[in-house]
Amino acid sequence: MTECCNSFCYLFLRLIRSINPRNPFVTKPQSIVVLGSTGSIGTSCLDVIRSHPERMRLLGASAFRSGKALLEQAEEFQPEWISLVDEAAAEATSFDSLSEKTQLFAGPGHVERLVQQPEVDTVVSAIVGAAGLEPTLAAVEAGKRVAIANKETLVVAGSIVTERAAACGATILPVDSEHSAIFQALQAGRKPDLRRIILTASGGPFRGWTRDRMRDVTPEMALQHPTWDMGPKITIDSATMMNKALEIIEARWLFGITADQISVVIHPQSFIHSFVEYRDGSVISQMSHPDMRLPIQYALTFPERLPCPCPDTDWSISAPLELHPPDMEAFPALQLGFEVAARGGTSGAVLNACNEVAVDRFLRSDIRFDQITQISHDILHHHTFEAQPTLEQLYSADNWAREEAARWNS
Ligand code: MG
Repeated sequence: MTECCNSFCYLFLRLIRSINPRNPFVTKPQSIVVLGSTGSIGTSCLDVIRSHPERMRLLGASAFRSGKALLEQAEEFQPEWISLVDEAAAEATSFDSLSEKTQLFAGPGHVERLVQQPEVDTVVSAIVGAAGLEPTLAAVEAGKRVAIANKETLVVAGSIVTERAAACGATILPVDSEHSAIFQALQAGRKPDLRRIILTASGGPFRGWTRDRMRDVTPEMALQHPTWDMGPKITIDSATMMNKALEIIEARWLFGITADQISVVIHPQSFIHSFVEYRDGSVISQMSHPDMRLPIQYALTFPERLPCPCPDTDWSISAPLELHPPDMEAFPALQLGFEVAARGGTSGAVLNACNEVAVDRFLRSDIRFDQITQISHDILHHHTFEAQPTLEQLYSADNWAREEAARWNS
């Protein structure tokens, strides 16, 4: 009888919550930790939290070396803790003005423990690169709601992350705009009825260029993205289309589908954020102004939708929406994405590590633009493949690939 009453009360409270989010029964805002809070996704995430103070609060935030920006965020949001991972940066920053309410953790290794604290509801994983893997896994293992903006986590260790999420009761929600679009479109049907997903890509600044013409692209040219305002690593990844390759792999793990259920189309306006096709031929897409705050907010409020601090679409203006097939020859990174999505194992860790090193070498003008993908291709095709790797094997594949990519010469 008591059990029955409890279930009734629980359902009643859930019903109230779903009908009226401002109901006085529901007073506790969602406690959010933002990993990588000073980056492009991190600052957009804080903008979302700032817009919904009654629903969300920043419990903790971490940055790698942007001490001053992290301090400013702490002064505004008064979280319980902040963590600056780079010790030299922590020493170089004066935290004298930090409120007594906020505890500072300097140096590596703190975040993994802090995201597992019981008061944490949601962890937004917005650290750039493979460095995001350990803290994200820690949040997954603590059974948190994890909003993943760090695609490298799934590219490197998709099988382990998704398995542990299922075992630990964690919910993984996509933040990447394309994956959020697919996740939203998937609410319209059942997984067994899904035929395929179609990822849209802006095509980057070199859409329509030949591979030869791209030999002379400089870092300055590649850092200009036509529609999205992002950090330097992801902007270069968009220019080579390696970003889309990583997204193909990310989608394979997030949605538990096969590589041949994934397609890519070029959509220069970045307004259709991706779509899904069901077996009856119906196509469901998600469209909006290109603004990362919308997918971030959806990951924080799912299944609810709240007003978003991003611009509305003006339907009174004519706007072309183009769709083109991708040029697989000019952008060979795409082929690598499909290959790795099909193969799994250690190949994601190798591709990602090579690409991180290659992008860094390109930004230092050490290699040509077209060699970024060439490095990944060459090293991927002579690594010792392991089909069911442990986390340790993934780390050693990552290390090996980094060393190889650092010394690669044409
Ligand atoms: Mg994306």
